[in-house]
Amino acid sequence: MGSDDSADAIDHDLLEKAIGAWGTDLQMWMAVEELGEAQTAIARWQRGRGGRDAAVEEIADAIIMAHQMAVCFGEDEVAEAIGEKQDRLRKRVLEEMDA
Ligand SMILES: [Mg+2]
Repeated sequence: MGSDDSADAIDHDLLEKAIGAWGTDLQMWMAVEELGEAQTAIARWQRGRGGRDAAVEEIADAIIMAHQMAVCFGEDEVAEAIGEKQDRLRKRVLEEMDA
């Protein structure tokens, strides 16, 4: 991963300020909404009915909200879960490449 990838673009201080400004409850509903918008934009792109720029924008919104949810639920716990899931994914990818 390079220094310009999406995870490195995240402003952690801003995430905490957003949660502080609007509260956990509202940000959780916002996450649900933004994740849904990303889902719709990707589906539209796949069906040839939506623009690439719209998909990129909604993916960015979803990533920002996912990071806010990590702050809300506990970043250490989420980081641990990410590590475990990536271990599992790594194993499956290697199995697939060997097949
Ligand atoms: Mg959006």
